[in-house]
Amino acid sequence: MKYNLDLEPISLPGLELKRPFLISGPCSAETEEQTLETARGLAKYGYKLFRAGIWKPRTRPGAFEGVGTLGLPWLKRVKEETGMYTCVEVANTHHVYEALKFGIDILWIGARTTANPFAVQEIADALKGIDIPVLIKNPVNPDIELWVGAIERVNQAGIKKIGAIHRGFSSFDDTKYRNAPHWQIPIELRRRIPELPIINDPSHISGKRELLKEISQEAMDLNFDGLIIESHINPEKAWSDAQQQVTPDQLHEMIESIVLREPKIDVPRTELDQLREQIDVLDNNLLELLKERMKVSEAIGRYKFENNITILQTRRYDEILTKRRAKAEEKGLNPDFVIDIFESIHEESIHIQNELMNKELEKKK
Ligand code: PEP
Ligand code: MN
Repeated sequence: MKYNLDLEPISLPGLELKRPFLISGPCSAETEEQTLETARGLAKYGYKLFRAGIWKPRTRPGAFEGVGTLGLPWLKRVKEETGMYTCVEVANTHHVYEALKFGIDILWIGARTTANPFAVQEIADALKGIDIPVLIKNPVNPDIELWVGAIERVNQAGIKKIGAIHRGFSSFDDTKYRNAPHWQIPIELRRRIPELPIINDPSHISGKRELLKEISQEAMDLNFDGLIIESHINPEKAWSDAQQQVTPDQLHEMIESIVLREPKIDVPRTELDQLREQIDVLDNNLLELLKERMKVSEAIGRYKFENNITILQTRRYDEILTKRRAKAEEKGLNPDFVIDIFESIHEESIHIQNELMNKELEKKK
């Protein structure tokens, strides 16, 4: 697949966005004071790029949906007072016009918007003839074509300074992440469009501050270009995304602890390296799934214990093996190989359930 993109490195008057850069600021601008205090806390460490949501796409009605245009003069003040460049999310023509009117420096398109080509096209049309960097978040669903499509639409409107933001993908399953990272998707995006900067958003991937560090480190190890991390002067009291925000001081401490490994510039990454990267990511996904599966096995063990049911139920086991064999054949996988794997998984499940029952029995004594 060849893309006909006309991209150039992201720069702002007086600033080149070189790896690794950081965009930070609150999920939402709430009050003038909170916005300015947060910006001062970040500017103190020399951070140059300030984010704040003005219009917030909330999944459910009734949640805080942003202060709207009222907050734009606050961002203007951030810029005047701290010299930071400002970034906001835009989701329609009105947002674009308002943001431009108030001198916002970088726009970003949110995950829910990227998933909607009509909305992306509307924004792209509103941007015709304007030279402003635009960052495009991945769509909420793990669809790389939709992500690339949004990049193409914005580029075709004449925007050349484009970056992609990897913020993870929503899923029905309850995993340790708020939005599963599916690292293989941004890696594939990089393979397809090597000159496109990719920024990782550990805040929306994790949903909780405890995980920011490990995700940021992984993104840096994968040679991403930058990070966008939510920071709030008083995270506990944030009006949106409270659990994932950190104070500017906490943020700085975390950033300082990241180990920056440089890619070997003189050794070009071969296709083999890229394929191995994909294998590493897929193996991690397999492990994550295995962990989820074992958690469910344990829950079944508890149910069996409470209801006095035997661990091994031969009919159910036969049924699993028959169904998995058929699925394997349907998918063109070697059924004997797949059965080997499931026998081993089943054995481990029984082991886990056995341990649980013994522990529960012990407790009852
Ligand atoms: C945000 O950046 O605060 C936001 C709403 O992000 P996303 O579009 O990734 O959900
Ligand atoms: Mn947020």
